[in-house]
Amino acid sequence: YVQDSSHLTDFNELYNIKLSKIKSVPVVVKEETSVYNAIVTLFLEDVGSLFVIDDDEALVGVISRKDLLKLTIGETDINQVPVSVVMTRMPNIITTRDNDTVFEAAEKLVNYEIDALPVVENLTDKAGVPLEDKLKVIGRVSKTNITRVFTDFGLEM
Ligand code: ADP
Repeated sequence: YVQDSSHLTDFNELYNIKLSKIKSVPVVVKEETSVYNAIVTLFLEDVGSLFVIDDDEALVGVISRKDLLKLTIGETDINQVPVSVVMTRMPNIITTRDNDTVFEAAEKLVNYEIDALPVVENLTDKAGVPLEDKLKVIGRVSKTNITRVFTDFGLEM
């Protein structure tokens, strides 16, 4: 039973925190990057997945730990194979925006069974007009970011 409902307002606040406030710096690689170098980047940057961009800086893919592991158990020469061969590709990438809430991001992570989401905005052409199908990666929200919202909130309670 709930005698005091004041904490519900607090949770409401927590759920509605904007991703712009909690996002991390994204770790990106070019599509020509070898699987070998992608694995090195995972270790150096201490992340579980990488976002893949093309020469125009547009998001083209996501590559996870298991995508990379899968390749290393075969006969493949991981120095020769680019990440573009194994990544999950646009338009199948689940994305978020700065203005989305912690709750919306958490829901996507759970429903799609993924560990991280790129935070994106539309790329613009030379005249500044947004390009509908070209996304620029401006952040990263992982399960860790969401968990940190809870611990920060707990410390304030
Ligand atoms: P892991 O594969 O290491 O457990 P994930 O659970 O994040 O890591 O990834 C599971 C699968 O979903 C992988 O094939 C990965 O490429 C893909 N994936 C990861 N993040 C996203 C995303 N934001 N949108 C679409 N697919 C994704």
